[in-house]
Amino acid sequence: MSIFETQHIHPELRINSYGHYLRRRFGCRVSKVNVDAGFTCPNRDGSKGIGGCIYCNNVSFSPRDTQAEISLEDQLASGMAYHRTRLGSQKFIVYFQKYTNTYASVEHLADLYQRALAVPDVLGISVGTRPDCLTDEALDLLSRLARQHYVCLELGLQSTDDAILERINRGHSLEDFIAAVGRASSRGFDICAHLIYGFPGEQPGEFVKGADLLNSLPGISSLKLHQLHAVEGTELAAMYRRGEFSPLTLEQYVSTAADFLERLAPRVSIQRLYGSSPLEIRVAPQWGLKNNQMWYAVLNELRRRGSWQGISVKE
Ligand code: SF4
Repeated sequence: MSIFETQHIHPELRINSYGHYLRRRFGCRVSKVNVDAGFTCPNRDGSKGIGGCIYCNNVSFSPRDTQAEISLEDQLASGMAYHRTRLGSQKFIVYFQKYTNTYASVEHLADLYQRALAVPDVLGISVGTRPDCLTDEALDLLSRLARQHYVCLELGLQSTDDAILERINRGHSLEDFIAAVGRASSRGFDICAHLIYGFPGEQPGEFVKGADLLNSLPGISSLKLHQLHAVEGTELAAMYRRGEFSPLTLEQYVSTAADFLERLAPRVSIQRLYGSSPLEIRVAPQWGLKNNQMWYAVLNELRRRGSWQGISVKE
């Protein structure tokens, strides 16, 4: 067996891709379908902070036909139909994506998650949230659901540097994230970490060290990584127009993302390697690439180097 097979590194992609992880686990093509369940965020409504993260415009995160006014079931029906036709997907994971999807009473969370899981061909849920918005009751609920369904908790970290977290108005610290991973680990569900690269003043060498931190947290099973990008209606877009934010070039991003992957343990599957937003609200950077071109830009860099995810990890 080659090193690629033993470590779940796809020999063509040179990473442990989440799509292949799902295929290995469920034996068929599985797609994530986004829904907007009508949550807000404690970093916007004053309970943790006001104004939100400087790059946050949730319109940029979500397809147009996921809106809270449309019932969860109707959002799912159209999302699943799209993925069935477009990708031939057979099973689905419902992705509670918009805002902070644990920011409600546990009764309300249970109702939403169970309704999603009751839809035929849905095999699991993925719940996006902040590390400082996780009650013990919510964790217990996710553990219970994970006994019969696939469950993934997606925790936004964004930066491992507390000074950056403060500058971008995240309203939580690295320690909050580590504590949340500790509380959520070994409960029978997956944990995905979200990271962004390209904050003003961020040094590539420092960013890449974040891989060591993720490696040191065995509860983390997958990663979403993307470039910082400014969209309309955000403080980051205003900073860009004032000359206070210089976006990365594609080459800078690709090179540092590849460095990061080389240092990341192969057990961590990769869900995402780029960020995208609708063209009409995209401010900067403007790389002019389609989503799959951005994904392959990073993978092709690994190929060009003759390397792969985890090549630099010392056992
Ligand atoms: S935590 Fe998420 S939803 Fe809340 S302000 Fe930040 S990016 Fe927006």
